[in-house]
Amino acid sequence: MANTPAKKSRNRKNKKPARRGWRAVFGGPSFFSNLVTTIIVFLLLMSVYSLIAGLSAPSNAIPLSAVASDVEAGKVSSIVVNGDALTLTYTDGTTKTSQKDPSAGLAETLVTYGVTPAELSKVALTVEGQSGLEFWFVTLGPFLIPLVFIGIFFWILLRQVRGAGMQAFSFGQSKARVIDPADTTQRVTFQDVAGTREAKEELMEIVDFLKQPKKFLDIGARIPKGIILMGAPGTGKTLLARAVAGEAGVPFFSISGSEFVEMFVGVGASRVRDLFQTAKKAAPAIIFVDEIDAVGRVRGTGMGGGNDEREQTLNQILVEMDGFEPAEKVVVMAATNRPDVLDSALLRPGRFDRRVTIDLPDRRDREAILEIHARKKPLGPDVDLAVIAERTPGFSGAELNSLMNEGAILAARESRTEVTQYDLIRSIEKVMLGPERKSHLLSPKEKKLTAYHEAGHALVSSVLPHADPVHKISIISRGRAAGYTLKLPFDDRKMQSRKQFLDDIAATLGGYVAEELLFDDVSTGPSNDLAVITAIARDMVIRYGMSEKLGPIAFGERQLGSEPYSERIAAEIDAEVTRIVEEAKARAQQVIGEHRGALDAIAKELIEKETIERADFEKILIANGITPKKKEEDLSASGGLAETVA
Ligand code: ADP
Ligand code: MG
Ligand code: ZN
Repeated sequence: MANTPAKKSRNRKNKKPARRGWRAVFGGPSFFSNLVTTIIVFLLLMSVYSLIAGLSAPSNAIPLSAVASDVEAGKVSSIVVNGDALTLTYTDGTTKTSQKDPSAGLAETLVTYGVTPAELSKVALTVEGQSGLEFWFVTLGPFLIPLVFIGIFFWILLRQVRGAGMQAFSFGQSKARVIDPADTTQRVTFQDVAGTREAKEELMEIVDFLKQPKKFLDIGARIPKGIILMGAPGTGKTLLARAVAGEAGVPFFSISGSEFVEMFVGVGASRVRDLFQTAKKAAPAIIFVDEIDAVGRVRGTGMGGGNDEREQTLNQILVEMDGFEPAEKVVVMAATNRPDVLDSALLRPGRFDRRVTIDLPDRRDREAILEIHARKKPLGPDVDLAVIAERTPGFSGAELNSLMNEGAILAARESRTEVTQYDLIRSIEKVMLGPERKSHLLSPKEKKLTAYHEAGHALVSSVLPHADPVHKISIISRGRAAGYTLKLPFDDRKMQSRKQFLDDIAATLGGYVAEELLFDDVSTGPSNDLAVITAIARDMVIRYGMSEKLGPIAFGERQLGSEPYSERIAAEIDAEVTRIVEEAKARAQQVIGEHRGALDAIAKELIEKETIERADFEKILIANGITPKKKEEDLSASGGLAETVA
């Protein structure tokens, strides 16, 4: 049973690397285009200024001495004084301008030039304030324009830093990313999250609070400060948290627990402090701590030191959460796929006391998720997403997303404009097992061995009543596996029974048994199969209480320094595991011995065609007197993970 691929890398997939340092502020190349814009605006302002200033510049100016002599001569009928500018109107109707000494009055000045008061009294003197706008512009312009220039410059910078959304606001040193509610390109709402109905209902309350905090605070309601989202990788925890922010229209600050681990002592704590402070300023807001298990593990287990930083970071998170009041309108959300390892201090009332579990999607939800991710992809008329949903039990939302994407890639590579059903079907296996390695050629001997190996799995799985029906067998190598048998349960499986486990182990041993029977030898091929069955058998004994001999006791894992059971029990557990595997092997041998004809027929077909789909496989079974499993008589009533055996 090969495991589904690449769980680890997925977590980081939708995080853009945060821009840091000068690029965060100056934003790379677009900074320079902004600089150019700013300079152009500046030059424009300057020319407008000199134009207006130029309007009031003297055109037919005469010196002050000439003004005095003209007044003495009685040629001037009126003078308008505007600041230091003089506008003279002559008796013949002409006008001239002049400039007076700013430190003295006009009359005073003219008298010093020898004009007598009698002569002066013949001239109509008017003192005028400068027209408001012009005055201010001319006097304050030289100071204001640079200020305006600087203002515009900063405004553009700020807008850029905020507008781009994910870019790091470097809050001190916090690596947190923020999604601005105004940034519609990044906005996610509940509509983008399929299924997870219960989780959405729970979270709706938080959305309401963030939207209208007053309503809740006025009535004295205590809103949870911390919500922890628990679920397998790729089930949409991050997506849901973002959707809460999107629905409420509040900023979303996010940081990942794993980022703290690589820090120096003390840095994590100060980043937490920064993050909370920034969020409080932006309140109402959401703080999202992804992968909180990376910092929130049970403290003081003393395993190998070096977790000082983690502990300090965790303590700081707790201090911050204890310190803030509902009135601060900040809700902390966290996500983990390991709720079992969390420190109980995190889960105490007043901290992360709300827990929301997100399950793997069932068939209906899988269809809905596929529909969401099909939105922007043109689908061919033959596409039936319900069928794809049926064939993908155990897929997470993230896997369904990449399935749709793989389908589109296949279509694009073949230069088609629509995604077909066949593209999607091929993508199921690609997502589950990794890409086909057609170049991985097998020698005729290897091919025969692989064919018998897979035929062994398929046959035992088809004959034993509690094993899952076979959907496809292939000897085209994929990922690490030389070949694979794809078994799919009829329904989604929430629980597995003892009988199912036993039949599964036998079917997984089918490959080994077939190799042994045919070649009187065993290859390294089944090594993964053996690791898987050993783990199942062990779990049956120590976790699920499925061993008759040891009874319904969960023994727990043995760890360094803790001994949940004695040496005697340990020996008994090993004996039980061995017994379970031996019995399963005997059953596989019995099935293969009884249906040797079917085994040969399946292997022959595989060598010829390399891949057998379900319909053809069932024909071979019927031809050899085996009744294929039908949905109606579904004895196993099983569901859940699609299983493959390599
Ligand atoms: P997690 O945080 O639980 O590991 P993510 O929220 O990062 O998972 O999910 C990864 C991607 O998978 C999402 O970006 C989305 O495209 C897809 N996805 C997961 N769950 C759903 C869902 N319920 N509806 C729609 N898309 C989903
Ligand atoms: Mg996530
Ligand atoms: Zn195998």
